[in-house]
Amino acid sequence: MANKVVKFGGSSLADANQFRKVADIIKSDSKRKYVIPSAPGKRYSDDIKITDMLYKCCELAGSGMDFSELFNAIKERYNGIISELGLDMSLDEEFSSIENELKARPARDFAASRGEFLNGKVLARYLGFSFVDAADVIIFDNKGTLLLEETVKAVRERLKGLENAVIPGFYGRTVEGFIKTFSRGGSDVTGSIIANAVRADIYENWTDVSGFLVADPRIVDDPDVIGTITYRELRELAYMGASVLHEEAIFPVRSAGIPINIKNTNRPEDPGTMIVSDDYDFRRESLSHTITGIAGRKGFSTINIEKAMMNSETGFGMKVLKVLYDNGLSFEHMPSGIDTMSITVDSSKLEPVRDKVLSGIRRAVSPDHLEIEDGIAVLAIVGRRMKNTRGTVARIFAALAHARINVKMIDQGSSELNVIIGVSEHDLSEAIRRIYDMFINSEKSI
Ligand code: ADP
Ligand code: ASP
Ligand code: MG
Repeated sequence: MANKVVKFGGSSLADANQFRKVADIIKSDSKRKYVIPSAPGKRYSDDIKITDMLYKCCELAGSGMDFSELFNAIKERYNGIISELGLDMSLDEEFSSIENELKARPARDFAASRGEFLNGKVLARYLGFSFVDAADVIIFDNKGTLLLEETVKAVRERLKGLENAVIPGFYGRTVEGFIKTFSRGGSDVTGSIIANAVRADIYENWTDVSGFLVADPRIVDDPDVIGTITYRELRELAYMGASVLHEEAIFPVRSAGIPINIKNTNRPEDPGTMIVSDDYDFRRESLSHTITGIAGRKGFSTINIEKAMMNSETGFGMKVLKVLYDNGLSFEHMPSGIDTMSITVDSSKLEPVRDKVLSGIRRAVSPDHLEIEDGIAVLAIVGRRMKNTRGTVARIFAALAHARINVKMIDQGSSELNVIIGVSEHDLSEAIRRIYDMFINSEKSI
C-alpha cells in the first residue's frame, strides 16, 4: 500500500504554531502515515534547542550540580505547546522519571534522546496517531553501529496492524538496552531507516528552507533551489559543508531506491528538492544549469613538494604517502605535475604531527623544496551535466580570474562529477559568489 515517511526538523516543531502547520501537512495527505519528529528547535535565532538544553542538564548532573532551573525551562516549553494546542495530556510522569534518571545515571545519549521522545508523545497525541518508542525498533550493537537488518525486522513487526504512527527521531537502543543516539542532526537518519523498513514510496524531509539550495544562503543572496539532485551529487556537496541532510541519511534509502523530497514546512506548496538515484532518467527534467551546486569548507593545508623529474622516480608518491600513513594522516586531494606534488590535508589533523610529517618527507624523498601552506579553503563545484559540457573548467577559472582570486589547487574527480578548487580562506565567499554568478545568473540571462 502506498505510504510516505515524513520527518520534521526542530524548527518545524519549535512551538504550537509550527505543530499546527505540521498537522495540516500530515492531514492533507492520507499517505503520510509514519511521522518522525525532532526535538523542538529554535523559535528565533538566539533561542536554544531543547537538545542543547538536555546536554547541558546532563553535564550539570554529571558534576553533581543542580540542574532544576534548566530542566524547568524544558518542561515549560513542552507544557506551553500542550496548553496552546489544548491537549488533554500531561508529561509530568515522564518529566520526573527523566529527572530522577539524570540524577542517578547522567548519560549523555539518554539525556539528549528525551527531546525527541517527549516531542513524539505530544505530536502523537495531537495527531491521534500511535506512539512507537524508537528504543523498541532502532537497534545498535554495543559499539554503537546500527544493526540495519535487526532494525528493519523490529520496525516491521512493531508497525504491523498500526494505521499510522509517530516514531521519535535521533535515537534507539543498543542490544544491551542502553539508549544510543546518532550524531547531531540524526533524526534525518531515523526517517531514512523507517522509510527503508516500510518500503515507502517517498521519504519527505520537512525543514525550514524550500529545498537544497545551489549555494549556502549565508554566502549567496537568495540562491536558487535545486529541483533534482542525485545521491552522488548530494554526497559531494554535503561533504563540503552543505549540511541540510545528515550524511548517513542517504544510504538506507539509496539502497532501497526510495527518493527523498526536501520540503519547507513554512511553504508546503513549494516543490522542494527531489533527491533521486544516480540512474534517474533526467530526460523528464526541463533544461537546467550546467552545475548543480557549489559548497566550500575552510580549514585545510597543502603540503607542497618540489623535486626535479619526480614523475620519473619510481615509488615517489608511495614514499610520500607512507609518511602520511605512518602518522595516521589521511589526505583529501593530491594533484601532481612533472616536478611538483601538492597534498591537501585537514589542518586540525595535520597540526599534531606537522613536524614529523615534514621531517619524514625530507628523509623519504629528499625534495628540492618542501613547504606547508595553511589557511586553504576547498570548494567543490558539483554537477552531473558537466561531463557533457565543454569549457566548464575554463569558465570557473575566468570567473575567479576576474575577481583576482588566486587558484592554489585544482582537481577534477575521475567521474567528472565535480571540480575541486583550493583558494585562500579569505577568498572563499567571493569565489562561491563569482562561480554562482557565472553559472546561475548568467545562464539565466541567455
Ligand atoms: P532541520 O532542523 O529541519 O533538520 P537543519 O538546520 O538541519 O534543519 O538544515 C536546514 C538548514 O541548512 C537551513 O536552514 C540552512 O541554513 C542550512 N544550509 C546550509 N547550506 C544549505 C544549502 N546548500 N541549501 C539549503 N540549506 C542550507
Ligand atoms: N535534536 C537532534 C539535534 O539537535 C537531532 C535532530 O534534530 O535531527 O541534533
Ligand atoms: Mg537537520
